[in-house]
Amino acid sequence: MLHQIDPVLTAAQAFLGERISRNAAIREQHSHGEDTNPPALPDAVAFVETTEEVAKILALCNRYRVPVVPFGAGTSLEGHVTPIRGGLSLDLSRMNRILEVNAEDMDCRVEAGVTRQALNAHLRDLGLFFPVDPGSECTLGGMCATRASGTNAVRYGTIRENVLGLTVVLADGRVIQTGRRVRKSATGYDLTRLFIGSEGTLGVITEIQLRLHGIPEAMSAAVCQFADLKGTVETVVDVMQAGIPVARMEFLDDVQMRAAIAFSKLEGFAARPTLFFEFHGTHASVIEQAKLAEALAQEHGGSDFRWATETTERSRLWKARHDAYWAALALRPGYRALTTDAIVPISRLPEAILGARADIDASGFTAPMVGHVGDGNFHTVILFPPEPGALERAWALDRKIVARALALGGSCSGEHGVGLGKREFLEQEHGAGALAVMRSLKATLDPHGILNPGKIFLN
Ligand SMILES: Cc1cc2nc3c(=O)[nH]c(=O)nc-3n(C[C@H](O)[C@H](O)[C@H](O)COP(=O)(O)OP(=O)(O)OC[C@H]3O[C@@H](n4cnc5c(N)ncnc54)[C@H](O)[C@@H]3O)c2cc1C
Repeated sequence: MLHQIDPVLTAAQAFLGERISRNAAIREQHSHGEDTNPPALPDAVAFVETTEEVAKILALCNRYRVPVVPFGAGTSLEGHVTPIRGGLSLDLSRMNRILEVNAEDMDCRVEAGVTRQALNAHLRDLGLFFPVDPGSECTLGGMCATRASGTNAVRYGTIRENVLGLTVVLADGRVIQTGRRVRKSATGYDLTRLFIGSEGTLGVITEIQLRLHGIPEAMSAAVCQFADLKGTVETVVDVMQAGIPVARMEFLDDVQMRAAIAFSKLEGFAARPTLFFEFHGTHASVIEQAKLAEALAQEHGGSDFRWATETTERSRLWKARHDAYWAALALRPGYRALTTDAIVPISRLPEAILGARADIDASGFTAPMVGHVGDGNFHTVILFPPEPGALERAWALDRKIVARALALGGSCSGEHGVGLGKREFLEQEHGAGALAVMRSLKATLDPHGILNPGKIFLN
């Protein structure tokens, strides 16, 4: 697509001033996310502060056919923010105001550039929290656009279940509201869910109405270590099938535990397959849930639970889990990481994880595994050296893990999204008919194809 950036720059400077930039360092910062795809420079970067500015920019870009790539914090893992066709990187990180909190209704409205950490810091004194917690410092707009989740999703749902409504700017600059401040509504098509997971290809999200949750009366974390991988994963299946309402159930294999012990100074633990649990509820219910889970773990060779009830100790454990990616990278200094994100129905998790481990062993890569296993979702952090052909071999391993997940009725991505990296699997996962409907939605909402072109769909 031929595009004309100069008239957009001239017109946008009138209302953005120096907040639209062609500075080389700023363009470089917006040329990639946290992924292994080759970077590509945008022609310019605009730092927007209001919905009206986004609307004006999009109307201009639509008129001059300039690609627009929304940019939150740039932490996505599949090449989502790389402007492969140039154009404008639209940085929303300065739209970081918390607009309203309705404590009685347990909801709030935020701008898209607010991070979940900033929101939770703001909510703490109100006895409320927002549970969706990817292991990165990312924006709520980016989380909506990638349909993100994290360790709490097994109990509180993903971002999809926690968004009530959105303000979205369409490709031609029209502004729409989706949803209302209610927990459910049976009216019309669900446009909120259409934009969630659309990866900046259907519209730019500028405001988000979120559900909040009360901080539970009691929270306690426990760690259980296992003799082998099989017993670990079978425990997960049993806990889910028993209906124990775990708030978090995270898996770290022996290699990831070795990394976490070194990186996060987790004294007293062995480099063995491990489950981190967290239980929320009343004091009595937390004890009951934990006893049930512990009994199931023991049936599969799990050790006694090691408890962390104090806030500092719980935070230390969960920080170690959230730092898993950086701990994995520290295992092989100078290497880079390709992260898989397969998800399978919970009963197929043992096959998926044991199969992935066999694939890793055959590949010769060091590739720690972690996972939000209560959802059936696990990641393999494939560490590859800076050598010709190594990235391609890492991709070959990723493809094997995805192929098995798809064959088991799963998906190539539980939470990271499609971007550039997972496009090749979409037809197999959804079928040609469903993919054609997705393409026609894209053509209707963005007829000139300016919004994050080249993402989600091949060609
Ligand atoms: C160490 C690490 C751990 C991670 N752990 C998790 C995890 O546990 N769970 C998980 O789900 N993800 C995880 N991620 C991936 C990443 O953090 C998420 O995908 C996150 O939601 C991206 O948010 P962002 O603000 O960085 O978005 P960006 O990377 O800036 O953008 C992501 C996509 O969303 C679009 N976009 C951004 N903002 C908007 C907007 N306002 N309107 C429309 N489109 C927009 C972009 O165009 C792009 O397509 C992890 C990443 C890292 C590096």
